[in-house]
Amino acid sequence: MKVTEVSGAFEHEGVVRCEDAATGLRSFIALHSTRLGPGLGGTRFFPFNTEEDALADVLKLSRAMTYKSAAAGLSFGGGKAVIVGDPKRDKTEALIRAYARFVDSLDGRYITTEDVGTTEADMILIREQTPHVTGLPTSRGGSGDPSDATAWGVFNAMRSLAKRLWGQDSLEGRHVAVQGVGKVGTYLVGHLVRDGCLVTVADVSPDAVRRVRADHAVAAVGTDDVHEVQCDIFSPCALGGSLNPQTIPGLRCEAVAGCANNQLASEEDAERLMSRGIVYAPDFIVNAGGVINISYEVGRAYDRDAAFAHVGRIGETLTRVLDLAGAERISTAEAAERVAVERIYSTRPNPSG
Ligand code: NAD
Repeated sequence: MKVTEVSGAFEHEGVVRCEDAATGLRSFIALHSTRLGPGLGGTRFFPFNTEEDALADVLKLSRAMTYKSAAAGLSFGGGKAVIVGDPKRDKTEALIRAYARFVDSLDGRYITTEDVGTTEADMILIREQTPHVTGLPTSRGGSGDPSDATAWGVFNAMRSLAKRLWGQDSLEGRHVAVQGVGKVGTYLVGHLVRDGCLVTVADVSPDAVRRVRADHAVAAVGTDDVHEVQCDIFSPCALGGSLNPQTIPGLRCEAVAGCANNQLASEEDAERLMSRGIVYAPDFIVNAGGVINISYEVGRAYDRDAAFAHVGRIGETLTRVLDLAGAERISTAEAAERVAVERIYSTRPNPSG
């Protein structure tokens, strides 16, 4: 196994590359910042076209983790890993074990967890080689699937929007259009319906729509139309990039809040939303429930109640972001970055970072 530093710094504390001829492993781990604590972020196993694409992705993702954890008040920094390959074809036990040794070589400066292309089963294997992994199944004393926690955070963010925009404590009588009813979207719909909210859903998978509608009285529309539904909150819970120059002009909502990562196709889209008078609840503030939840498993026995209480405070963080955006007349996306940066530099550095 050959581990090398990738030079260039890229505004990161460090990036390392690992190649293991015996198992075919090719992987990068990027540590953006460990100022607040070890870099915490998942391992993405993905068939990148080139190593340059993989590197670009891991740099962007690890930076985002720094901001997400900082704004969420966690004592963790930003890190992320990618494995180059098709998980369906290339994933073997030997490769995952080699990858785990790579994680272990960083001596706890990076803590990994699941992401696209990796599973709880992979985390169990990784745990056999290194303690620096979180997001283990509940059967192993871990916190399990984070989707419920993520949905709880999105729901609390929406409630704080309701308070701010319409002066009400719940979402009763409001209408939310949810784009994507996968793991998080489905939990979110449950919270919304129980709060007395009207819900419209859309998903490319007819099965996903059918499952949600079997449990809840919600309306459904096609995936091309969901962003144009007349509603109070549009909730992107599928893939990134759903807020872009093509979709923003068609939005007929007062606010946007969802769990998808990287909802804005570009920075300018934050301005586009602002000029349409639509309140954008920044994705990394709103969807931090998952990382908050797994952080409660690191170095301590997982406590679900404490974790969910912390997740519930996402609404307060969002309020701070919206206050700052209003006071400084900046986009909410910029305000969210400022809140994160302020925490990073106002907190005493983590001595082990
Ligand atoms: P998921 O794969 O379970 O669900 C995504 C759903 O979106 C699927 O049902 C899929 O069919 C649907 N979809 C895909 N393209 C669509 C489209 N164009 N229009 C409508 N629906 C479409 O994923 P998830 O775990 O629910 O996560 C959803 C998003 O939230 C992802 O962007 C993920 O990165 C992000 N996120 C998830 C978590 C978590 O805890 N799971 C935490 C933070 C962020």
